[in-house]
Amino acid sequence: MTERQIPGWINPLAFLEVDEPWASSTPAAPTLEAILRFLCPADEPVDVQKLLSRYREISTEPVRLFLAPAEQRILDKLIWPLRNAKASYMVGNYLATISLSGMVAEMVAILLWEITDSRISGRSMTKEDEKRLFGSEFEKLGQERRVSVLSVYGVIGDRSKADFDEIRQIRRHYLHLWSQDHDRLPSDGIKCFHAAVSLIVTAIGQDVQEGRLVLNPRLVRYLERKGLYGATPYIFDDGSAALPEEIAAEGPCECGRSACVNRPGKVYCRWTRDLPEWVIRKRLYRRCYDELVICPRCGKNHKRGHIGKLGDCGKPYGDQEGQTD
Ligand SMILES: [Zn+2]
Ligand SMILES: [Zn+2]
Repeated sequence: MTERQIPGWINPLAFLEVDEPWASSTPAAPTLEAILRFLCPADEPVDVQKLLSRYREISTEPVRLFLAPAEQRILDKLIWPLRNAKASYMVGNYLATISLSGMVAEMVAILLWEITDSRISGRSMTKEDEKRLFGSEFEKLGQERRVSVLSVYGVIGDRSKADFDEIRQIRRHYLHLWSQDHDRLPSDGIKCFHAAVSLIVTAIGQDVQEGRLVLNPRLVRYLERKGLYGATPYIFDDGSAALPEEIAAEGPCECGRSACVNRPGKVYCRWTRDLPEWVIRKRLYRRCYDELVICPRCGKNHKRGHIGKLGDCGKPYGDQEGQTD
């Protein structure tokens, strides 16, 4: 029998500058370059230009994520893994990009289900209902099953379903099949990453209206229920949002009725600092403010918010700032 030889990598998993005994014989800490050399593919030289060009390659997502709620679980389960997926691509670790994008997609599916108040016979679905309907709790279903449930219940549209499917299929090929070749690995990594970004954007919601960010209202309600809604913006019924520090005053509308204009009850309002001082002092819901009324002071027909206002009301307050006579 003849001996056969194949080329080999010596110590393929070792970071020699750190491993003993090399490390103890060299007092200096490993350089950043040595660390980068370990992080990058073993079969190519470290090249900053190459790292940057990979960053540019993957930073071409059609949908951008430009803000994330600073909520720990969202950061831990969605945002930082996605950032690591991108960083992995930079250092040529495309499999990590795919597997982290896959993890993010699973988390998005669970989050989307959590923030949806799925109903059965007119009440919210419980974990027991989920078991009876799907065979197990939603969170414990396989990803393919989760996505089809989300689709059937109308939680996601065709676009998101396609993103979920793409990530799952690519991920399955690379992470579960020995026979999958790696020649399309980088471009598949990019596809997974882009699909994961667009899924997160769908879950978080990032419409901008009148220069303000609008989060997915379902996510907002979910964060409120969890008592986590603090540092993220308040959402107003006109679709705008404001951070807590932008709120000048808050409280129920002081229009003096039990129900505000076009609303089933009294509206709890938050007035932002960018509003005129007069408007903040009136403490009226915006629709109650704009409602035309017979003014109790001047008897003319004008906006409720303009009662006593110089220039609008026939009998303006003597003290305009204090809104008293
Ligand atoms: Zn009102
Ligand atoms: Zn008036």
